[in-house]
Amino acid sequence: MNFNELNIIQPILKAIEEEGYTTPTPIQEQAIPKVLNGHDLLGCAQTGTGKTAAFSIPILQLIGAHGEQTGKRKIKSLILTPTRELAIQIGESLRAYGRHMKLRSTVIFGGVNQNPQVNQLQQGVDILVATPGRLLDLMMQGYISLKDLEIFVLDEADRMLDMGFIHDVNKVIRALPNDRQNLFFSATMAPEIMKLAASILRDPIKVEVTPISTTAEIIGQSLYFVDKNNKPNLLFDVLNEQSAQSVLVFTRTKHGADRVAKYLVKNGIKSDAIHGNKSQNHRQRALNNFKDRSIRVLVATDIAARGIDVELMELVINFELPNIPETYVHRIGRTGRAGNLGNAISFCDYEEKAYLKDIEKLIHQTIPVIENHPYPMEVFEIIKKERQVRPPRNKPSEKKSPKPTAEQKLDSAKKKGKKTWFGKRDRY
Ligand code: AMP
Repeated sequence: MNFNELNIIQPILKAIEEEGYTTPTPIQEQAIPKVLNGHDLLGCAQTGTGKTAAFSIPILQLIGAHGEQTGKRKIKSLILTPTRELAIQIGESLRAYGRHMKLRSTVIFGGVNQNPQVNQLQQGVDILVATPGRLLDLMMQGYISLKDLEIFVLDEADRMLDMGFIHDVNKVIRALPNDRQNLFFSATMAPEIMKLAASILRDPIKVEVTPISTTAEIIGQSLYFVDKNNKPNLLFDVLNEQSAQSVLVFTRTKHGADRVAKYLVKNGIKSDAIHGNKSQNHRQRALNNFKDRSIRVLVATDIAARGIDVELMELVINFELPNIPETYVHRIGRTGRAGNLGNAISFCDYEEKAYLKDIEKLIHQTIPVIENHPYPMEVFEIIKKERQVRPPRNKPSEKKSPKPTAEQKLDSAKKKGKKTWFGKRDRY
Protein backbone atom coordinates (compact mmCIF):
# COMPACT_ATOMS: atom_id res chain seq x y z
CA MET A 1 0.00 0.00 0.00
CA ASN A 2 1.23 3.51 -0.71
CA PHE A 3 -0.15 6.99 -0.03
CA ASN A 4 -1.53 7.30 -3.61
CA GLU A 5 -4.11 4.64 -2.79
CA LEU A 6 -5.62 6.57 0.13
CA ASN A 7 -7.50 9.20 -1.93
CA ILE A 8 -5.16 11.96 -0.75
CA ILE A 9 -5.01 15.12 -2.87
CA GLN A 10 -1.88 16.08 -4.78
CA PRO A 11 -0.60 19.00 -2.63
CA ILE A 12 -0.61 16.78 0.45
CA LEU A 13 0.93 13.81 -1.40
CA LYS A 14 3.73 16.13 -2.49
CA ALA A 15 4.32 17.29 1.11
CA ILE A 16 4.31 13.69 2.38
CA GLU A 17 6.91 12.80 -0.20
CA GLU A 18 9.01 15.77 0.86
CA GLU A 19 8.78 14.53 4.45
CA GLY A 20 10.39 11.33 3.20
CA TYR A 21 7.47 9.02 4.01
CA THR A 22 7.15 6.22 1.50
CA THR A 23 4.48 3.96 2.98
CA PRO A 24 1.60 4.77 5.30
CA THR A 25 1.79 3.33 8.80
CA PRO A 26 -1.03 0.91 9.72
CA ILE A 27 -3.08 3.58 11.49
CA GLN A 28 -2.72 5.94 8.52
CA GLU A 29 -3.75 3.20 6.11
CA GLN A 30 -6.84 2.39 8.13
CA ALA A 31 -7.88 5.82 9.36
CA ILE A 32 -7.26 8.25 6.46
CA PRO A 33 -9.86 6.91 3.96
CA LYS A 34 -12.50 6.60 6.68
CA VAL A 35 -11.98 10.08 8.07
CA LEU A 36 -12.06 11.44 4.51
CA ASN A 37 -15.47 9.77 4.14
CA GLY A 38 -16.75 11.74 7.12
CA HIS A 39 -16.81 8.95 9.70
CA ASP A 40 -16.21 9.42 13.41
CA LEU A 41 -13.14 7.52 14.55
CA LEU A 42 -12.07 5.76 17.71
CA GLY A 43 -8.32 5.28 17.38
CA CYS A 44 -6.50 3.11 19.85
CA ALA A 45 -2.92 4.13 19.24
CA GLN A 46 -0.01 5.66 21.07
CA THR A 47 2.59 8.17 19.88
CA GLY A 48 5.10 6.64 17.53
CA THR A 49 2.46 4.96 15.39
CA GLY A 50 2.07 7.89 13.01
CA LYS A 51 -1.31 8.88 14.46
CA THR A 52 -0.67 12.62 14.10
CA ALA A 53 -0.49 12.31 10.32
CA ALA A 54 -3.47 9.92 10.43
CA PHE A 55 -5.72 12.75 11.60
CA SER A 56 -3.83 15.81 10.27
CA ILE A 57 -3.83 14.71 6.62
CA PRO A 58 -7.60 14.14 6.27
CA ILE A 59 -8.36 17.30 8.28
CA LEU A 60 -6.24 19.39 5.91
CA GLN A 61 -7.92 17.76 2.93
CA LEU A 62 -11.48 18.14 4.25
CA ILE A 63 -11.03 21.74 5.37
CA GLY A 64 -9.09 22.56 2.19
CA ALA A 65 -12.07 21.37 0.12
CA HIS A 66 -13.95 24.53 1.13
CA GLY A 67 -11.88 26.34 -1.49
CA GLU A 68 -10.96 30.03 -1.47
CA GLN A 69 -12.38 31.85 1.51
CA THR A 70 -13.69 35.36 1.76
CA GLY A 71 -13.68 37.33 5.01
CA LYS A 72 -11.99 36.33 8.25
CA ARG A 73 -11.22 32.61 8.60
CA LYS A 74 -13.28 30.72 11.16
CA ILE A 75 -12.08 27.81 13.24
CA LYS A 76 -13.28 24.71 11.43
CA SER A 77 -11.18 22.13 13.21
CA LEU A 78 -10.01 21.91 16.80
CA ILE A 79 -7.34 19.48 17.97
CA LEU A 80 -7.30 19.22 21.74
CA THR A 81 -4.16 17.67 23.20
CA PRO A 82 -2.88 17.41 26.79
CA THR A 83 0.61 18.91 26.67
CA ARG A 84 2.33 21.90 25.16
CA GLU A 85 4.97 19.69 23.58
CA LEU A 86 2.36 17.60 21.80
CA ALA A 87 0.52 20.73 20.73
CA ILE A 88 3.69 22.20 19.23
CA GLN A 89 4.45 18.95 17.42
CA ILE A 90 0.95 18.67 15.99
CA GLY A 91 1.25 22.28 14.82
CA GLU A 92 4.55 21.43 13.11
CA SER A 93 2.97 18.40 11.42
CA LEU A 94 0.03 20.46 10.14
CA ARG A 95 2.42 23.01 8.72
CA ALA A 96 4.55 20.30 7.11
CA TYR A 97 1.71 18.30 5.50
CA GLY A 98 -0.19 21.46 4.57
CA ARG A 99 2.75 23.41 3.18
CA HIS A 100 1.33 23.43 -0.36
CA MET A 101 -2.14 24.51 0.77
CA LYS A 102 -3.53 27.85 1.79
CA LEU A 103 -4.88 26.91 5.20
CA ARG A 104 -3.93 28.63 8.42
CA SER A 105 -3.31 26.71 11.61
CA THR A 106 -2.17 27.94 14.97
CA VAL A 107 -1.17 26.47 18.32
CA ILE A 108 -2.18 27.74 21.75
CA PHE A 109 -1.00 26.51 25.16
CA GLY A 110 -0.55 27.87 28.64
CA GLY A 111 2.54 28.96 30.56
CA VAL A 112 3.45 31.70 28.08
CA ASN A 113 2.18 35.19 27.34
CA GLN A 114 -1.18 34.97 25.57
CA ASN A 115 -0.75 38.05 23.38
CA PRO A 116 1.09 36.46 20.42
CA GLN A 117 -1.51 33.67 20.43
CA VAL A 118 -4.37 36.19 20.54
CA ASN A 119 -2.80 38.10 17.62
CA GLN A 120 -2.70 34.91 15.56
CA LEU A 121 -6.31 34.11 16.42
CA GLN A 122 -7.45 37.59 15.47
CA GLN A 123 -5.99 37.18 12.00
CA GLY A 124 -8.30 34.18 11.46
CA VAL A 125 -7.48 30.49 11.77
CA ASP A 126 -8.82 27.36 10.04
CA ILE A 127 -7.29 24.73 12.31
CA LEU A 128 -6.61 25.31 15.99
CA VAL A 129 -4.36 23.08 18.11
CA ALA A 130 -4.84 23.69 21.83
CA THR A 131 -4.30 22.48 25.36
CA PRO A 132 -7.50 22.63 27.41
CA GLY A 133 -6.66 25.31 30.00
CA ARG A 134 -5.50 28.05 27.63
CA LEU A 135 -8.30 27.23 25.19
CA LEU A 136 -10.97 27.75 27.85
CA ASP A 137 -9.22 30.87 29.05
CA LEU A 138 -9.22 32.47 25.61
CA MET A 139 -12.77 31.28 24.93
CA MET A 140 -13.89 33.00 28.11
CA GLN A 141 -12.12 36.19 27.09
CA GLY A 142 -14.03 36.09 23.81
CA TYR A 143 -11.07 35.49 21.50
CA ILE A 144 -12.25 32.10 20.29
CA SER A 145 -15.55 31.02 18.82
CA LEU A 146 -16.11 27.36 18.00
CA LYS A 147 -19.55 27.73 16.45
CA ASP A 148 -18.30 27.02 12.93
CA LEU A 149 -16.41 23.91 13.97
CA GLU A 150 -16.70 20.86 11.73
CA ILE A 151 -14.02 18.42 12.94
CA PHE A 152 -13.03 17.87 16.55
CA VAL A 153 -10.01 15.78 17.58
CA LEU A 154 -9.44 14.62 21.12
CA ASP A 155 -5.84 13.45 21.21
CA GLU A 156 -4.32 11.28 23.97
CA ALA A 157 -7.60 11.02 25.85
CA ASP A 158 -6.04 8.69 28.45
CA ARG A 159 -3.44 11.33 29.33
CA MET A 160 -6.14 13.99 29.55
CA LEU A 161 -7.79 11.90 32.22
CA ASP A 162 -4.51 11.10 34.00
CA MET A 163 -3.66 14.78 34.13
CA GLY A 164 -7.04 15.71 35.57
CA PHE A 165 -8.30 17.60 32.50
CA ILE A 166 -11.60 15.77 32.19
CA HIS A 167 -13.73 18.69 33.41
CA ASP A 168 -11.99 21.09 31.07
CA VAL A 169 -12.46 18.67 28.18
CA ASN A 170 -16.16 18.36 28.95
CA LYS A 171 -16.49 22.15 29.09
CA VAL A 172 -14.90 22.45 25.67
CA ILE A 173 -17.15 19.75 24.24
CA ARG A 174 -20.23 21.57 25.51
CA ALA A 175 -19.14 24.61 23.52
CA LEU A 176 -18.98 22.70 20.21
CA PRO A 177 -21.80 22.59 17.66
CA ASN A 178 -23.70 19.29 17.71
CA ASP A 179 -23.25 18.61 14.05
CA ARG A 180 -19.59 17.73 13.71
CA GLN A 181 -17.13 14.94 12.95
CA ASN A 182 -15.19 13.54 15.92
CA LEU A 183 -11.83 11.78 16.03
CA PHE A 184 -10.83 10.29 19.35
CA PHE A 185 -7.39 8.89 20.13
CA SER A 186 -6.14 7.09 23.19
CA ALA A 187 -3.28 4.69 23.85
CA THR A 188 -5.38 2.67 26.28
CA MET A 189 -9.08 1.94 26.39
CA ALA A 190 -9.87 1.65 30.09
CA PRO A 191 -13.59 1.75 31.00
CA GLU A 192 -13.61 5.48 31.83
CA ILE A 193 -11.99 6.24 28.45
CA MET A 194 -14.65 4.19 26.70
CA LYS A 195 -17.30 6.14 28.60
CA LEU A 196 -15.81 9.44 27.48
CA ALA A 197 -15.54 8.14 23.90
CA ALA A 198 -19.19 7.05 23.94
CA SER A 199 -20.25 10.53 25.04
CA ILE A 200 -18.47 12.15 22.09
CA LEU A 201 -18.53 9.75 19.14
CA ARG A 202 -21.39 8.84 16.83
CA ASP A 203 -21.26 5.39 15.30
CA PRO A 204 -17.46 5.46 15.15
CA ILE A 205 -15.16 3.27 13.14
CA LYS A 206 -12.67 1.61 15.44
CA VAL A 207 -9.03 1.47 14.46
CA GLU A 208 -6.58 -0.26 16.73
CA VAL A 209 -2.85 -0.49 16.12
CA THR A 210 0.05 -2.00 18.01
CA PRO A 211 -1.81 -3.01 21.14
CA ILE A 212 0.05 -1.82 24.17
CA SER A 213 1.48 -5.19 25.13
CA THR A 214 2.96 -5.97 21.72
CA THR A 215 4.84 -2.68 21.14
CA ALA A 216 7.50 -3.90 23.50
CA GLU A 217 8.31 -6.83 21.27
CA ILE A 218 10.32 -4.88 18.70
CA ILE A 219 12.42 -3.11 21.31
CA GLY A 220 15.61 -4.64 22.75
CA GLN A 221 15.19 -4.63 26.52
CA SER A 222 17.55 -5.36 29.39
CA LEU A 223 17.51 -5.00 33.12
CA TYR A 224 20.04 -4.28 35.84
CA PHE A 225 19.31 -5.15 39.46
CA VAL A 226 21.07 -2.41 41.42
CA ASP A 227 20.80 -0.63 44.75
CA LYS A 228 19.21 2.77 44.73
CA ASN A 229 22.37 4.60 45.85
CA ASN A 230 24.42 2.98 43.07
CA LYS A 231 22.09 3.95 40.25
CA PRO A 232 23.97 7.17 39.33
CA ASN A 233 27.29 5.28 39.09
CA LEU A 234 25.70 2.57 37.00
CA LEU A 235 24.11 5.15 34.73
CA PHE A 236 27.48 6.77 34.16
CA ASP A 237 29.04 3.38 33.31
CA VAL A 238 26.21 2.38 30.99
CA LEU A 239 26.39 5.70 29.14
CA ASN A 240 30.12 5.25 28.68
CA GLU A 241 29.64 1.72 27.35
CA GLN A 242 26.79 2.54 24.98
CA SER A 243 27.43 4.28 21.70
CA ALA A 244 23.92 5.79 21.57
CA GLN A 245 23.99 9.54 20.92
CA SER A 246 20.36 10.31 21.85
CA VAL A 247 19.46 8.92 25.24
CA LEU A 248 16.26 9.59 27.13
CA VAL A 249 16.48 8.87 30.86
CA PHE A 250 13.29 8.56 32.89
CA THR A 251 12.91 9.36 36.55
CA ARG A 252 9.77 9.22 38.66
CA THR A 253 10.08 12.68 40.17
CA LYS A 254 10.98 16.18 39.06
CA HIS A 255 13.67 16.50 41.70
CA GLY A 256 15.05 13.14 40.66
CA ALA A 257 15.30 14.37 37.06
CA ASP A 258 17.20 17.47 38.17
CA ARG A 259 19.55 15.44 40.37
CA VAL A 260 20.40 12.95 37.63
CA ALA A 261 20.99 15.67 35.01
CA LYS A 262 23.21 17.59 37.43
CA TYR A 263 25.20 14.46 38.25
CA LEU A 264 25.79 13.69 34.57
CA VAL A 265 26.83 17.25 33.74
CA LYS A 266 29.23 17.19 36.69
CA ASN A 267 30.71 14.02 35.26
CA GLY A 268 31.18 15.42 31.78
CA ILE A 269 28.09 14.05 29.99
CA LYS A 270 26.07 16.76 28.25
CA SER A 271 22.58 16.56 29.71
CA ASP A 272 19.53 18.54 30.67
CA ALA A 273 16.30 17.85 32.51
CA ILE A 274 12.73 18.61 31.48
CA HIS A 275 9.71 18.44 33.73
CA GLY A 276 6.65 20.40 34.74
CA ASN A 277 8.52 22.85 36.97
CA LYS A 278 10.75 24.07 34.17
CA SER A 279 9.67 27.10 32.19
CA GLN A 280 8.32 26.58 28.71
CA ASN A 281 11.41 28.33 27.33
CA HIS A 282 13.74 26.02 29.20
CA ARG A 283 11.87 22.94 28.03
CA GLN A 284 11.87 24.07 24.44
CA ARG A 285 15.59 24.92 24.58
CA ALA A 286 16.41 21.55 26.12
CA LEU A 287 14.35 19.74 23.47
CA ASN A 288 16.00 21.67 20.65
CA ASN A 289 19.44 20.93 22.08
CA PHE A 290 18.51 17.28 22.31
CA LYS A 291 17.13 17.20 18.77
CA ASP A 292 20.20 18.81 17.25
CA ARG A 293 22.37 16.60 19.46
CA SER A 294 24.11 19.40 21.36
CA ILE A 295 23.20 17.39 24.44
CA ARG A 296 23.37 13.62 24.57
CA VAL A 297 21.06 12.87 27.46
CA LEU A 298 17.64 14.26 28.27
CA VAL A 299 16.35 13.37 31.71
CA ALA A 300 12.57 13.55 31.91
CA THR A 301 9.53 12.72 33.96
CA ASP A 302 6.72 10.84 32.27
CA ILE A 303 4.42 13.75 31.62
CA ALA A 304 7.16 15.99 30.26
CA ALA A 305 8.33 13.23 27.95
CA ARG A 306 4.96 12.65 26.33
CA GLY A 307 5.54 14.92 23.41
CA ILE A 308 9.19 14.25 22.76
CA ASP A 309 9.46 13.21 19.19
CA VAL A 310 13.05 12.68 18.24
CA GLU A 311 13.53 10.50 15.25
CA LEU A 312 16.16 7.86 15.84
CA MET A 313 16.02 8.06 19.62
CA GLU A 314 18.51 5.30 20.22
CA LEU A 315 18.18 4.44 23.85
CA VAL A 316 15.73 4.81 26.69
CA ILE A 317 16.95 4.27 30.25
CA ASN A 318 14.50 3.76 33.08
CA PHE A 319 16.55 5.16 35.95
CA GLU A 320 13.53 4.31 38.07
CA LEU A 321 10.82 1.88 37.13
CA PRO A 322 7.34 3.33 36.83
CA ASN A 323 4.67 2.12 39.24
CA ILE A 324 2.11 1.95 36.43
CA PRO A 325 3.09 -0.85 34.04
CA GLU A 326 1.56 0.81 30.95
CA THR A 327 3.93 3.73 31.56
CA TYR A 328 6.84 1.35 30.99
CA VAL A 329 5.49 0.56 27.53
CA HIS A 330 4.95 4.25 26.78
CA ARG A 331 8.47 5.03 27.90
CA ILE A 332 10.24 2.38 25.89
CA GLY A 333 7.98 3.28 22.95
CA ARG A 334 9.93 6.55 22.71
CA THR A 335 12.63 4.49 21.06
CA GLY A 336 11.73 2.14 18.19
CA ARG A 337 9.44 4.71 16.62
CA ALA A 338 8.00 4.47 13.13
CA GLY A 339 9.56 1.07 12.60
CA ASN A 340 13.07 1.79 13.91
CA LEU A 341 14.46 -0.81 16.27
CA GLY A 342 14.96 0.66 19.69
CA ASN A 343 16.78 -0.22 22.85
CA ALA A 344 15.63 0.14 26.45
CA ILE A 345 17.59 -0.43 29.65
CA SER A 346 15.98 -0.47 33.09
CA PHE A 347 17.42 -0.15 36.58
CA CYS A 348 15.51 -1.97 39.29
CA ASP A 349 16.22 -1.70 43.02
CA TYR A 350 14.77 -3.97 45.66
CA GLU A 351 11.79 -1.73 46.30
CA GLU A 352 10.87 -1.68 42.62
CA LYS A 353 10.67 -5.46 42.21
CA ALA A 354 6.89 -5.36 42.58
CA TYR A 355 6.68 -2.86 39.72
CA LEU A 356 8.87 -5.13 37.60
CA LYS A 357 6.51 -8.03 38.20
CA ASP A 358 3.53 -5.98 36.97
CA ILE A 359 5.45 -4.80 33.91
CA GLU A 360 6.52 -8.31 32.91
CA LYS A 361 2.95 -9.50 33.31
CA LEU A 362 1.67 -6.75 31.02
CA ILE A 363 4.24 -7.26 28.27
CA HIS A 364 4.12 -11.07 28.55
CA GLN A 365 7.90 -11.12 28.61
CA THR A 366 10.71 -11.63 31.07
CA ILE A 367 13.17 -8.80 30.58
CA PRO A 368 16.70 -10.23 30.19
CA VAL A 369 18.92 -9.44 33.19
CA ILE A 370 22.51 -8.20 32.85
CA GLU A 371 24.28 -10.23 35.51
CA ASN A 372 27.86 -9.05 35.50
CA HIS A 373 28.16 -5.44 36.41
CA PRO A 374 30.13 -3.53 39.05
CA TYR A 375 27.11 -2.59 41.19
CA PRO A 376 25.16 -5.78 41.96
CA MET A 377 22.23 -5.51 44.33
CA GLU A 378 23.26 -5.89 47.95
CA VAL A 379 20.28 -4.44 49.78
CA PHE A 380 17.42 -6.93 50.01
CA GLU A 381 15.04 -5.04 52.21
CA ILE A 382 12.94 -1.97 51.98
CA ILE A 383 14.77 0.78 53.80
CA LYS A 384 12.31 2.92 55.65
CA LYS A 385 13.15 6.56 55.86
CA GLU A 386 13.61 7.65 59.45
CA ARG A 387 10.61 9.64 60.44
CA GLN A 388 11.52 13.13 61.33
CA VAL A 389 10.08 13.95 64.71
CA ARG A 390 8.57 17.38 64.64
CA PRO A 391 9.40 19.65 67.57
CA PRO A 392 6.28 20.66 69.53
CA ARG A 393 4.71 23.83 68.16
CA ASN A 394 4.50 25.57 71.54
CA LYS A 395 7.27 25.14 74.03
CA PRO A 396 5.84 24.72 77.54
CA SER A 397 7.11 28.19 78.47
CA GLU A 398 5.28 29.69 75.49
CA LYS A 399 2.01 27.99 76.30
CA LYS A 400 -0.96 30.16 75.46
CA SER A 401 -2.98 31.43 78.36
CA PRO A 402 -6.43 29.79 78.56
CA LYS A 403 -9.32 31.47 76.75
CA PRO A 404 -11.19 34.03 78.87
CA THR A 405 -14.55 32.94 80.21
CA ALA A 406 -17.75 34.80 79.35
CA GLU A 407 -17.63 36.56 82.73
CA GLN A 408 -14.04 37.69 82.21
CA LYS A 409 -14.91 39.03 78.74
CA LEU A 410 -17.89 40.88 80.19
CA ASP A 411 -15.75 42.45 82.92
CA SER A 412 -13.08 43.51 80.48
CA ALA A 413 -15.65 44.98 78.07
CA LYS A 414 -17.36 46.88 80.87
CA LYS A 415 -14.03 48.30 81.95
CA LYS A 416 -13.48 49.53 78.37
CA GLY A 417 -16.98 51.08 78.41
CA LYS A 418 -18.29 48.89 75.55
CA LYS A 419 -21.85 47.69 75.10
CA THR A 420 -21.95 43.92 75.53
CA TRP A 421 -24.15 40.90 75.29
CA PHE A 422 -21.65 38.31 76.60
CA GLY A 423 -23.17 35.92 79.02
CA LYS A 424 -26.77 36.93 78.29
CA ARG A 425 -28.28 33.53 77.67
CA ASP A 426 -31.50 34.76 76.20
CA ARG A 427 -29.78 36.80 73.55
CA TYR A 428 -30.85 34.42 70.71
P1 AMP B 1 3.34 10.13 15.83
O1 AMP B 1 2.84 8.77 16.20
O2 AMP B 1 2.30 10.90 15.14
O3 AMP B 1 3.93 10.83 17.01
O4 AMP B 1 4.51 9.94 14.74
C1 AMP B 1 5.73 9.33 15.05
C2 AMP B 1 6.84 9.65 14.06
O5 AMP B 1 6.66 8.93 12.84
C3 AMP B 1 6.96 11.10 13.65
O6 AMP B 1 8.33 11.44 13.75
C4 AMP B 1 6.51 11.17 12.22
O7 AMP B 1 7.22 12.15 11.51
C5 AMP B 1 6.87 9.80 11.73
N1 AMP B 1 5.96 9.27 10.68
C6 AMP B 1 4.62 9.44 10.62
N2 AMP B 1 4.13 8.82 9.54
C7 AMP B 1 5.17 8.23 8.92
C8 AMP B 1 5.28 7.42 7.74
N3 AMP B 1 4.24 7.08 7.01
N4 AMP B 1 6.52 6.99 7.39
C9 AMP B 1 7.59 7.32 8.15
N5 AMP B 1 7.55 8.08 9.26
C10 AMP B 1 6.34 8.52 9.64
